[in-house]
Amino acid sequence: MAVEQHHPTYAITESDVNIRILSTINELHLRYRDLDEGTVAGYIPELSKVDPDLFAISVVTTDGKLYSVGDDEHAFTLQSLANPFIFGMVLDELGRERVRQFVGVEPTGNPFNAIVLDRQTNRPMNPMVNAGAIAVTGLVPGNDPTDRLNRMLAALGRYMGGAPQVDIEVFMSEKSTGDRNRSIAYLMRNFGTLTRDINEVLDQYFQQCAVSVNCRNLACMAATMAAGGVNPHTGERAISRAALRDVLTIMYTCGLYESSGRWVHTVGIPAKSGVGGGLMAVVPGRMGIAIFSPRLDSQGNSVRGVRVCTDLARQLNLHLFVAGGDTAPAVAPIDQPPGTDDTSIAQRT
Ligand code: GLU
Repeated sequence: MAVEQHHPTYAITESDVNIRILSTINELHLRYRDLDEGTVAGYIPELSKVDPDLFAISVVTTDGKLYSVGDDEHAFTLQSLANPFIFGMVLDELGRERVRQFVGVEPTGNPFNAIVLDRQTNRPMNPMVNAGAIAVTGLVPGNDPTDRLNRMLAALGRYMGGAPQVDIEVFMSEKSTGDRNRSIAYLMRNFGTLTRDINEVLDQYFQQCAVSVNCRNLACMAATMAAGGVNPHTGERAISRAALRDVLTIMYTCGLYESSGRWVHTVGIPAKSGVGGGLMAVVPGRMGIAIFSPRLDSQGNSVRGVRVCTDLARQLNLHLFVAGGDTAPAVAPIDQPPGTDDTSIAQRT
């Protein structure tokens, strides 16, 4: 009787990948559970009240599957994690050229809250640091402050797949202590970058920073970016492809403050951190990653967030210039007619 030959196959199936994601995040949660380096943000008094040991890791794949471990339902505030989303919204509303008149695209090498503008243009260096984020907030269109706030919340809600809430305590805490951001705003008004009422723009900026999410929400927001701008849970488009390309580019080069160069070197995927302890990363076409751990390093990045994401990228081969780089076609297939890439979100369903 002929013996059937069984050749082992090492092709990774979808379920293998899922098990890999799940086991990797569990393993990383265990590996870093006891790491207590860093300190919680103290300059916004309300943030200093957070339990520093909270720790969650969530991944949402572009087909909408959630893998999550730890305190993933604990609410925290976006802080500057809101910046890329609001930047994307304004790009879609006003167009790239108009936005570029108000904010640059260069990494700063300075702390996130530096009172520094581009020496040649007097514009903020990029939309990921406070100065640039405040300038971008000043561009959000609307009839009045309430309308502008609602549009901003609606934009964030498309990524979250729900209605976001502002944490009033955190908002009031930053509003009453945010003199550094106030100084940045006055400096920008001096150079014509901010034209609206300073207090109104700052209120709106502090509100966007105080939007409350949990780690699962944040992973879904990142996964929406990974899925070309369409929320994998709701199917709703949150941002046009053209704006998303700009957002991811700036996240790639400027997302981790002064650590941005080291980040792309070692991790190699677009990411953004916030002083509330959240960190998100986007693996285009594959997944959104979120980590929540409130202890920050001296640059304002979540210590465990950076460590987990670094290991995750290495273990799952996520660096943009490694994963698939050797098998990608020389010329990308043309899957849409020229020009459709620039369709603004307003024209989409
Ligand atoms: N609301 C914070 C500030 O303006 C955000 C900073 C951050 O997360 O990087 O200082």
